[in-house]
Amino acid sequence: MQRRLFKPLVLSASLMLITACGDAPEPRVAATVDVDNIARQYTQLVLALGEHDSNYVDAYYGPGQLRDEAVARGMSAADIAAEAKALLEKIDTQPLADSDMRKLRLHYLDKQLQALAFHAEHLSNGKKANFEAQAQALYDTTPPNYTLTDFDEVLAGIAELVPGEGNLTERVVAYRKNFVIPADKLDVVFQRAIEECKQRTQAHISLPEDEDFSLEYVQDKPWSGYNWYKGKAYSLIQINSERPIDISRAVDLGCHEGYPGHHTYNALLEHKLVDELGWQEFSVYPLYSPQSLIAEGSANYGIEMAFPGEQKMQFERDVLYPLAGLDPAKAAEYAAFLQLMNRLSYAGNEIARQYINGDIDGERAVALLQQYSLNSEAEARQRLRFFDTYGAYVINYNWGKQLVRDYVEQTDDQAERWARFTRLLSSPRVPSSIEW
Ligand SMILES: [Zn+2]
Repeated sequence: MQRRLFKPLVLSASLMLITACGDAPEPRVAATVDVDNIARQYTQLVLALGEHDSNYVDAYYGPGQLRDEAVARGMSAADIAAEAKALLEKIDTQPLADSDMRKLRLHYLDKQLQALAFHAEHLSNGKKANFEAQAQALYDTTPPNYTLTDFDEVLAGIAELVPGEGNLTERVVAYRKNFVIPADKLDVVFQRAIEECKQRTQAHISLPEDEDFSLEYVQDKPWSGYNWYKGKAYSLIQINSERPIDISRAVDLGCHEGYPGHHTYNALLEHKLVDELGWQEFSVYPLYSPQSLIAEGSANYGIEMAFPGEQKMQFERDVLYPLAGLDPAKAAEYAAFLQLMNRLSYAGNEIARQYINGDIDGERAVALLQQYSLNSEAEARQRLRFFDTYGAYVINYNWGKQLVRDYVEQTDDQAERWARFTRLLSSPRVPSSIEW
């Protein structure tokens, strides 16, 4: 799959700037070269920090030589933090942006470097930052706070939908077993769901030519699905099949990991920013960074983009339930139940916050996840593992989705919503520049 040469496109981008500059070509070209240098150094610092934290570099598909050079320097995490701070000072001295995209680019580099310096510093001193500090420094946002009793009313609503004897968590866990995809139907259901997510996305977003993905089933992971973006518009999507998978997860993961979620976001960034503009910094994706809020938020909101209103339930009822051998007559009731379950999602953030801040221990967190998120004990332990591995990252899913929704739903027109959503996926936006 040979396509899109990198270097000639960099040259053509520079050439365009020279010819478009009019009466003051030289300073603008010099400024572009400066930002390109900052971007390259930022990319190398991300790759260098990846040597100290194996989860940190989520994707890199730029030149191998850049990585080799970065790694060969053998920088400590403290060195990396210091260099990131020096680069931040350079950004401050850059001339004011002369275009919206350049303004977004400088702001993106500034916020991503702040997050990088913060993470490098904490890796270096071995201290864990509290939940609020992580949200602000790593994800460029302040998530809302709740108390767990705020969710009592939702729990009461769920109790009415799932009547019976015994405690609510046990009832819910038993009820959900009716909606598990049988192991031998898993692949056919997932393939069909992703195909539908793709068709619905392609109707509104022009995807790069040759884009493609592979699907794999894995076990023993702290997440339920993962997109490993490999560059050249190709993703490896992994689904964690360690525990039973609910029928509603097929469309959720198909949209989230694939279309119009992570695969689409990464492919558009590669095509629009790396290939067309030669912006090196987008060939690397550091997990603990403001970009993750946009990535997770758009991936989760993307489910509603592709399946607005009742359409997800209708597709599941008419196509996926029969494929999985489940009773389609129960689809509407189950969708209503899941809507209420979604309203509990911020209870999970609150439990993560208390646990990360040391207010409660792991066993208490597992008990609270069972009580307020209605997780089985096994699910609660998997989520605890997620909190241990990824810290305040949990906010990116629901709070990120809310911020993306607020951005997209400023119009009622569905075509305009897709245009806003696509703009978000194709530009260097972070939470504090989402409206620019
Ligand atoms: Zn994700």
